[in-house]
Order: sequence, then C-alpha cells, then structure tokens
Amino acid sequence: MNILPYADQLFIDGAWRQASGGTLPLENPSTGEPIGRIAAAQSDDVDDAVNAARNALDGQWGALSAVDRGRLLSDIGRRVGEQIDLLAGLEALDVGKPLKQARADALALARYLEFYGGSADKFHGETIPYLGDYTVYTLREPHGVTAHIIPWNYPMQIIGRSIVAALATGNATVLKPAEEACLTALAFARIATDAGLPAGSLNIVPGTGVQTGAALAAHPGIDHISFTGSTEVGVAVQSAAAGNTIPVTLELGGKSPQLVFDDADIESALPFLVNAGIQNAGQTCSAGSRILVQRGIYEQVVEALSRRFSALTVGPATDDLDVGPLISAQQKETVAGLIDLGVDDGLTVAAQGVVVDDAPPGGHYVAPTLFTDVAPDHVLAQQEIFGPVVVVVPFDSEDEAVSIANSGGYGLVAGVWTRDGGRQMRLARQLRAGQVFINNYGAGGGVELPFGGVGRSGYGREKGFEALYSFTTVKTVAAHHAKGAD
Ligand code: NAD
Repeated sequence: MNILPYADQLFIDGAWRQASGGTLPLENPSTGEPIGRIAAAQSDDVDDAVNAARNALDGQWGALSAVDRGRLLSDIGRRVGEQIDLLAGLEALDVGKPLKQARADALALARYLEFYGGSADKFHGETIPYLGDYTVYTLREPHGVTAHIIPWNYPMQIIGRSIVAALATGNATVLKPAEEACLTALAFARIATDAGLPAGSLNIVPGTGVQTGAALAAHPGIDHISFTGSTEVGVAVQSAAAGNTIPVTLELGGKSPQLVFDDADIESALPFLVNAGIQNAGQTCSAGSRILVQRGIYEQVVEALSRRFSALTVGPATDDLDVGPLISAQQKETVAGLIDLGVDDGLTVAAQGVVVDDAPPGGHYVAPTLFTDVAPDHVLAQQEIFGPVVVVVPFDSEDEAVSIANSGGYGLVAGVWTRDGGRQMRLARQLRAGQVFINNYGAGGGVELPFGGVGRSGYGREKGFEALYSFTTVKTVAAHHAKGAD
C-alpha cells in the first residue's frame, strides 16, 4: 500500500478528494527535504466531514451492534498488525522518529484496536435500586459526532487511544491530524476502509490549526472534542467548545518529575531516567524531564546519568539511533534557544550526546543535553521544553521533593524511585499527576492504563476502560411499574 499518492487528499464519507484550500508542503525532519504535499481543509470541507459523520450515525455505522463494532475494530487491528513495517516507515519519514520507536507506536495502535475491539460489547450501564415500584437503569450512549484534534508527536498512539475508543463506543469521528505529520492517519483510513469500516464513521481533514482546527473546534455540528496538544491551544479549543456547550477532553503538556530517593535501586532506575527524557527526542507530553535527586546519592546519580547522556547518538530516523531529529526548524530553534538560556544563566551542562557526523545538514538535530544543579524555579525546570533536554534538581527531604514536584502548574505524570513502601504509598497520594509510576516510568506504553492530566496538563481521561466513559454520556431510565399505574 502506497499512501503517498493519497497524502494530498481528504478522507470524507469513505472517499478521497481534494481540499478546497489546496495543499500544504510536508517535510522530512531527518533531511529538511520535501516529502510531498498534504491537503489543506477549509471550513466547507469541515462541514462536509461533520455532515458525513452525522449521516453515518443515522446509517450503516449507527445500526451496528456493539459486538459487530468490536469485531470490526479487532479485524482492523489484525490488519494494522500486518502493516507494522509500512506504518513505522511512514512515521519515521514524517515525524523523524527512529524506526524502533516508530514500530513501537504502530504496535501500540494494533494493541489499542485489539483492546477497544474486545471491550466494545463489555461496556454497559447499570441498574440502580430505587423506590420499590421503579426499575431504574442507565444507558451508556455515544456523544454522537466526536472531533479529534491531535499533535504530530505520536499520531498512531493518539489515534489508538482517541479515535478507536470513540468508535468502539459508537461515535462517528472527524480527525484533524497535525499539519506536520498526517501520513499514518491517512494510511490508517485506508486499512480501516479495506476492513469494511462504514463510510462516514471516520473522516480525516488535514490542514492548519488556525484554519481547519479552529473550524472543527467551533463547529456547531459536533458533540464532543478530544484535543491533544499544547496548553495554549487547548485553552482556545475549550473556549470554542464552550460556545456550543459540548464536553472536551484536554490532553495537554507536562513537565513531569522523577523523584529519586537515597534508597532507590539506581541501576534499575537509570535506563528509565534517561529514556523518559529523550524518547522521541524529548517531544513527548509525559517526558520525565525533571529529575529530582536526594543529596545522599546526588553525585553518584549525576555521574551515571552523565555517562549515559554522553553515549547517546543522534541521527536520521532510518539510522535508528537513540535520538532522531526534532520535528521542524522552528522547534530546533526554540530548543536550542532554551539550551543557550541555561548556559547563559550559568547552569552546569553535565553532558551532551553526539550528533553523528553524516547526519544530513538540513535535518533538525539537537544533541541531548543534561543540566545539573538546576534551581527548582529556573525556567528550564518549569517550562515544557519539548526537546531532548533534562534537568537534575537536588533535594534534601521527602517534603521538599513533593513540593518541588508539585510546583509549576502541570500535572501529567510523576515517577518515584524508592524501596520504602510507606513512602511509595504516601507519594502516590501526594503527587499532583494523572499517573504515578513507582519504580518504573511509562509502564510499557500502558494501553490499559487511564491517562490524562490535572492543572495545566488538562482534564478528562483517555486509554484503558476509562476512555469508554469519556466517549459516552449517561442516560437514566426510570420505569414506574406500580400496579394500576399503566
Ligand atoms: P499544538 O497545540 O500546536 O497543536 C496540536 C493540534 O492542534 C494540531 O493538530 C494543530 O494543527 C491544532 N491547532 C493549532 N492551533 C489550533 C487552533 N487555534 N484551533 C484548533 N486547533 C489548533 O501542539 P503541538 O506542537 O502539535 O504538540 C505539542 C504539544 O502537545 C506539547 O505541549 C505536548 O505536551 C502536547 N501533547 C500532549 C499529549 C497528552 O496526551 N497530554 C500528548 C502529545 C502531545
């Protein structure tokens, strides 16, 4: 299957077509060279996509039983599983993600389809004991037409946790992928269509955020928005949704802390401490990019981290090294500017990785950088950098660690490294985050584990069974059956 011929098209009502806004350029971040062009959907294209979704709810898609929806998603999952290399290749080309990491994302998409395909007919309402002559039960109903606005950093994973969960619960969907990376979204549409996904249940409108994204977010024909992206745009999307009084799930940014205590198993922690900061070149919402280390082991941890950071290699996605390029020249400039700011402020650069000599000069490469002895309120310890930059902050007591970890306003993920069981339980409660990992970080992707933030990291949950609640609404049915009441 070659998706590139379709890359400049929209997918609406089961058919491919040109966008009324023409096309936009698409670049390979590993080389800076053009790959092709993508569609630039305008508001009339968004109208068509929303109408197609509405009609799908009234047509073949809406008529499918939960078991049939589940079987269909499971079948799509099997087909995705047969196309892992193709999907990984597209993601590597489009996002600049090293092939091994791109493969993991494609496998995760297959797993989401398996998980939500299997759960479609196991998710149900409840009966509620009420007055003696009543039977009361709840129905879990789809919102209707759901809009999905997603970023470029993990397109396949986010399609899995958002679009697939919405389809499993019977919604009809409109997807606005990021303008920087939408090839795997289009490939997914082709695979799903081949498997028989009814027309209109999945519509894809690539385009810019300010045109296509804004038109979709404010569209009066949608019933729910799942937005994944920056906090700034999340606020705008939330405002647009408020105009139509529809619910929103906001999966936003983060500055996730990893707390390493004196009694931690450092050898087990080290690979996680490094990987959580540099995976996908640090362009990960849940990047564990703030490492808080207790003084008793501070020097030892900094030395071990520095050794590992110095050994990291950076190069094109196809070389499959530790780190690939950043998504764009602009992102590179932002991240390089923040590194310069740290240096200018006198922060210690304890170690940097190496960009390989033959990395294409037009690629957007930044050497992974480890800053140590960073004050907890320094901008590099507070701001989401979205690049391979990790800061290490020393602390003395447990209370101080919690206070630092909870500062800054984000609250997506936290990691705790300690052998003390009591501390593990205390911190799990005290840390302000949607997920707390104890003696691990990321838990292998965690398709089954509810995910989402608090504070500036957003609200609502995706992944796991929890997403099925997010993509449905409850209807309560109260039937009165007293004798003589008919
Ligand atoms: P972004 O907010 O710039 O863009 C995200 C999406 O929103 C894109 O599709 C974009 O076109 C669209 N968009 C932009 N302006 C819009 C507008 N005015 N109205 C509607 N849509 C608009 O984010 P990004 O730079 O693509 O991604 C990086 C951000 O995403 C980081 O902050 C990262 O932490 C966050 N993120 C969060 C999660 C999570 O699950 N919490 C996952 C991945 C990324």
